[in-house]
Amino acid sequence: MAEAAEIKRLTIVRTMEEATILAGALESAGIPAHVIDKTFHAEPIPMSRLFNWVEIHVAAEDFEPARKVLADFDALERHCPQCGALLGPDELHCEACGEPPPAA
Ligand SMILES: [Zn+2]
Repeated sequence: MAEAAEIKRLTIVRTMEEATILAGALESAGIPAHVIDKTFHAEPIPMSRLFNWVEIHVAAEDFEPARKVLADFDALERHCPQCGALLGPDELHCEACGEPPPAA
């Protein structure tokens, strides 16, 4: 029924981990998300994972609901107080440095 759906860029994140978490949140809301790693194109030098560039695209018709999912997700999102890594909704401690998250 949907013909050649138009795709819009929803957001840009810095790590594949973050992109995967966001895509999971979108897909659990019924919105197919396309994760596109631009890192290799934007940065040919394998210098640092800190400069990764990952785009998340959704169909144009899903753009507005996807933004709402993203806003809700941002409200829930937690970062490690020690190293600043994004913690997934199910993560009880930071995988990057092992620091437990702040008590809610
Ligand atoms: Zn950490």
